[in-house]
Formats: sequence, C-alpha cells, structure tokens
Amino acid sequence: MQKYPMYIDGRFVDSASGQWFDSFNPYTGKPWAQVAQGNAEDADRAVKAAHKAFTTGPWPQLTASQRGMLLHRLGDLVARDANKLGELETRDNGKLIAEMQGQLNYVPQWYYYFGGLADKIQGSVIPLDKKGYFNFTRHEPLGVVVAITAWNSPLLLLAWKLAPALAAGCTVVIKPSEFTSVSALEFVKLVEEAGFPPGVVNVVTGFGKDVGPALTGHPLVAKIAFTGSDATGRAINETAAKSFKRVTLELGGKSPNIVFDDAKIDDAVNGAVSGIFAATGQTCIAGSRLLLQESIHDVFLEKLLALAKTARMGDPLSKETQVGPITNMPQYEKVLGYIDIAKKEGAQLMMGGGPATRPECGTGWFVEPTVFSGVNNKMRIAQEEVFGPVLSVIKFKDEEEAVAIANDIRFGLGAGVWTSDIGRAFRMSERIQAGTVWVNTYRAVSYMSPFGGYKDSGIGRESGIDAIHQYLQVKSVWINTGAATGNPFVLR
Ligand code: NDP
Repeated sequence: MQKYPMYIDGRFVDSASGQWFDSFNPYTGKPWAQVAQGNAEDADRAVKAAHKAFTTGPWPQLTASQRGMLLHRLGDLVARDANKLGELETRDNGKLIAEMQGQLNYVPQWYYYFGGLADKIQGSVIPLDKKGYFNFTRHEPLGVVVAITAWNSPLLLLAWKLAPALAAGCTVVIKPSEFTSVSALEFVKLVEEAGFPPGVVNVVTGFGKDVGPALTGHPLVAKIAFTGSDATGRAINETAAKSFKRVTLELGGKSPNIVFDDAKIDDAVNGAVSGIFAATGQTCIAGSRLLLQESIHDVFLEKLLALAKTARMGDPLSKETQVGPITNMPQYEKVLGYIDIAKKEGAQLMMGGGPATRPECGTGWFVEPTVFSGVNNKMRIAQEEVFGPVLSVIKFKDEEEAVAIANDIRFGLGAGVWTSDIGRAFRMSERIQAGTVWVNTYRAVSYMSPFGGYKDSGIGRESGIDAIHQYLQVKSVWINTGAATGNPFVLR
C-alpha cells in the first residue's frame, strides 16, 4: 500500500507521532493507501510555517501579477493531471469516474479566474469631506487561512477556497477529510512544481477531532474556510468567534426541487433524478425534497420511478456506472438509518429502501436508490440532510403552498423550480430562501457565480468575483497634506 506523508513548509514529512491511518476504497470496502495521522503538534508546525511564509521570505515580496502567474501555472498543471487526480478521487470516495474527472477538468478554471483577479484588486481614493487630508484604501490579505474540506468533492471544494486565498496573498493550511486525503497530497506536488514558495500551501492530515480544533483555535490563524456538516460548522464558528477569526462556512442542505404542472415534464424528471441520484446523493446541493404539484403528482412519480430503476450501479471506475457506493462506512450506516426512520414515520416506500446486494456492487458500501412518497414536510426525512440516494416526495397544491413548504426548513442552500411560466420563475426565485435557485435546470455551478447558503446552510460565498474579498481586509490610510493639528482633545 502506498504511504502518503503530510506536506509542511515545502517538505513531505511524517506525523509527529509517526502513526498512519488507512484510506479505504468504498467499492471494495478495503484499505488501499496509508496517510500520516497528524495531531495538534503537526497542526502547530503547519500554521507556524504558513505564518512564516506570510510574513517573511519571497511570498509577501511577490507582486499581485506574479501571484496570478503562479496560479495560472497551477491551473495548467491540474489540467495536465486531471484524469490521474480524478481517478485517485474515485478510488478514495467512490464517486463516478465521469463525475470526478469532469470536476478535475473544470477545477483549473478556478485557478485561472482568481489568478486573473489577483492584480485587479484596487483600493480607492475617498473624496473626503475634510480639507488637508488625502485618504485612500488598501485591500490587504488576512493572513493564514485554514481550508477544511469534505469528502464528496475534495479538490473542487479545495479550489473554491485555495484559489481566492492565494490570489489575495494569504497562505494556507489544508485539512482534507480523513476519508479522502490522498488527492490533496498529490495536488500539493503540483503546487510545488508551479513554483509556490515553501510554507505558502501546507497539508495536515489526520482525524478532524485531533487536528481540527488545533487548527481552528490556533492564535496565528486569521480565517477558516470550511465545507462539511452543520454540526462541525457550528463548532468551528464557536471556536473562531473566541478569537474573532473570519469564517466561510458551506454546510449542506435539504434542497427543494419544485415541479409545477406547466413544466416540461420529461426535462423535470431528468432534473429530479440528477438532483438526487447523481453523485449517489452525496452532494450538499442534492435535490432531496421533490415537491410535486398535485395535478401531475402520479404521472410524474411513475415516470421518475421508471427512469430511476434503469440506473446502473457498480464499479465507480467504470464509465458505464451511474450510481456508485457511499463513500465511507459511517455514512453508509447513516443513510440506512434514515431509510428506517422514514419507514417508521409512515413515508411510503416506492423503490429501493436498503443495502444494494446486486452482484455488480461487489463488497462495497452500496445503498439502493430509494424513493419515498407521501412525505410530510414535518417528518425528519424531509427536514434532515441524509447525504445519500434517498428522495422524499411531497405534494403541494399551488405556488403559495410550494413556497411555504420550500422555506419551512432551517437550511437554504439550493432550490430547483420547473415551470414554463416566466413570471412564476421570477416570483419563485425571489421568494425562495436559498443561496442558489435553478430554474429548469439543477446542480449547475461555475467559478464565476457565487455559491453559498442562507440560514443554517452557511456563512459567506465561494466563487464569483466577490469571493476574493472574503480573504482580504480593508485599511483606510490618512495622509495629512496640510491640515492644522488643532485641539488635541477633540475628534478631527
Ligand atoms: P464533517 O463536518 O464531520 O467533516 C468535514 C471536515 O471537517 C472534514 O475534513 C473533517 O475531518 C473536519 N472536521 C471534523 N471535525 C472537526 C473539528 N472539530 N474541527 C475542525 N474540522 C473538523 O463531515 P463528514 O465528512 O464527516 O460528513 C458528515 C455529514 O456532513 C454528512 O453526513 C453530510 O450530511 C455532511 N456533509 C456535508 C457536505 C457538504 O458539502 N455540505 C460535505 C460532506 C458532508 P475528518 O474527516 O478527519 O473528520
């Protein structure tokens, strides 16, 4: 089994404890690599290296254009190795090779886009109301950023944080998920090859409970950018608040995918299936609540079940596979647990409803694509994030009720609306409380478009032109050009 050490201050190093942990292939359920098991001492080393790189050495001396060039080079290297990195991710998280290689082929755009933005961050000259002063603003990098990522899309979620952080001039300590650390450790080889100075990007691996608090509570850390569960996000936010660290939190959801009777039904069926069964439901924007207008409910459900039943399960490395395994054992148990909860709550099981034991699923952690109808929005299966291939179908009468059901939840990450009525499309996009609303499409993202959550789905936005400001702070500079110093005891 290949061993993957951590990356601190420009060197691959063993953990302070010398311990390793296994990384599993979800298709076989067996370990395939070993990763250095870091602890608080390693976290401290990495933060200090990042802080040194932020304050001394070549990084702060680079011009913004030079930082941008490095990011461009990094984008080129990711593009060169996209297929290899995608395959590693599939091996580690079990998501389809088509999905992971597709993501990796898209990831370079974040480095190009924010590389291009690096030297376009400008302060302004303020036309002050006071004579004798020149006042201008500077946008300065925050400092050391801790980037914590989840297992579902490791290098994509990392790019959303790393590209704007580096473009802004910050330095970074990456903490990948314990379930998918390998791709980050391969990726930093490209960071080195691109020519980033030592300490600018570091990777600490290990268990979240061991290294997480040591990173997020570290006094030299200025900001935490996190994707994961709302429970961990809440804990991080509390820790960050104690020392006034900035946060960007992307915390998942329970997104409504709403189909009106004036929609193009076949397109909407496609969108509903891709909203929940693509990525085996392991996506923060899963359209896990399907809201169907009662006039089309039965016919829609029939078409949906017919399409979902054709999904080919199996080896995620095969291009033919459409639904892969669940990434890890705890998550597999969690998904099955929610299926039991839904049955006990009285939801009506329409398909699936347990582990997948088809021969093509091998020894991996597979759950049958599952659909429950007759779901009431108060049920736990409608209110809590399952993060698996489990769809809850909820009936509604009219637009008013659709909005009420869509918003009656503590999350607000994404929402889908399927309609042919342009007025309704605008009304719904205005009334739904979510960071992203898709009309007649679902699960589309771009490096140019802001992404993030309302309510408990998070704080801040990733991607888009403004994301770089989440890694900058503004300084106001006053130069006296001739004003009298005046009375020292009153405000100037
Ligand atoms: P977690 O929130 O537990 O983990 C996300 C990241 O945070 C991982 O890198 C994890 O490390 C790290 N972490 C864990 N504890 C701490 C801590 N105390 N301080 C700092 N970092 C910490 O999510 P999981 O991946 O375990 O998944 C659990 C649930 O989260 C899923 O069932 C799903 O509902 C949701 N989820 C949501 C995602 C989204 O995109 N919004 C993505 C993935 C999961 P480690 O892995 O080592 O514990």
